[in-house]
Amino acid sequence: MIKKAIFGGTFDPIHIGHIHIAYEALYRLKLDEIVFMPTGNPPHKLKKYVTDGSLRYKMVKSAIESEGKFTVSDYEINRPNLSYTYNTLEHFSKLEKDTKWYFLVGMDCLMDIQNWKRVDDIFKLCQFIVFNRPNFPAFTKESIKRQKKKIEDRYSTEIIYLNAPLLDISSTTIRKNMREGRRVDYLLPENVSDIIEKFGLYR
Ligand code: ATP
Repeated sequence: MIKKAIFGGTFDPIHIGHIHIAYEALYRLKLDEIVFMPTGNPPHKLKKYVTDGSLRYKMVKSAIESEGKFTVSDYEINRPNLSYTYNTLEHFSKLEKDTKWYFLVGMDCLMDIQNWKRVDDIFKLCQFIVFNRPNFPAFTKESIKRQKKKIEDRYSTEIIYLNAPLLDISSTTIRKNMREGRRVDYLLPENVSDIIEKFGLYR
């Protein structure tokens, strides 16, 4: 059976922290493909800090081009407003019925999963692969273990914990550093830096 993971995010911009964790998941879990899924444009009133979907998509596409098992989907950015994870998973599992779907997320997301739309069904459609986030002091070994067990029991699922080293980088820090005129090129794939430069992003 083909094993694919969806890796959703704003990716504003995509950075080497994202690529690194995606590669760890690909390699360690022997996945066939990781589908990067940039989120859609938020509704008008929330929009002010998010770069347009087409540019975020372009950055992801160029960031992953050297890894044949990484792909990017424009499914969410082509839909009006933000998509629910449930709808995206439902779409892809209908499209590829013989694929085993995984969903790759940071621990920060798992902490508030109870608030997601149709969370019971989400766990029927895919298996979660969760990794820790650096710089989240609340996520101790114990709290992660507790939350993982709680979700597993509640939704009759099994969560894969990806115990990989992490790079302490965030898109927020990159945007902030750029506004302050600091260099960020070593935190980004070269192609992404080129696109940022070309379109004058984050100035
Ligand atoms: P922002 O700072 O704008 O919130 P971000 O860097 O956290 O952005 P997102 O696009 O929101 O990036 O994240 C997409 C996914 O990547 C999420 O599951 C998030 O947990 C994960 N992620 C973000 N940064 C890292 C990192 N340095 N290492 C591993 N995973 C990360």
